[in-house]
Amino acid sequence: MQPWVVETIPCVECGATAHLLTGFPPDDPPRPGDIVAYRCEECMDRFDVVLDDVGIDDQPDSVW
Ligand SMILES: [Zn+2]
Repeated sequence: MQPWVVETIPCVECGATAHLLTGFPPDDPPRPGDIVAYRCEECMDRFDVVLDDVGIDDQPDSVW
C-alpha cells in the first residue's frame, strides 16, 4: 500500500469510519488521479474518492 493512500476516511454523511474497498496489486500501484472506493461502516454509503483528494495533503497547489 502506498503511504499516501489512507485506508479509512471519515464518512461525510454520518461521521463514522469509511473503509477502503479497493485493493492494489503490487505491480499496479495507485497513482494520483486514480479513483478508490470507500464504504461507511455505519450507513453503508459508498464514496468514490480521487486519490489526489485523500492522500496528498498540504499541497499548496491543490487548491480547487
Ligand atoms: Zn456513514
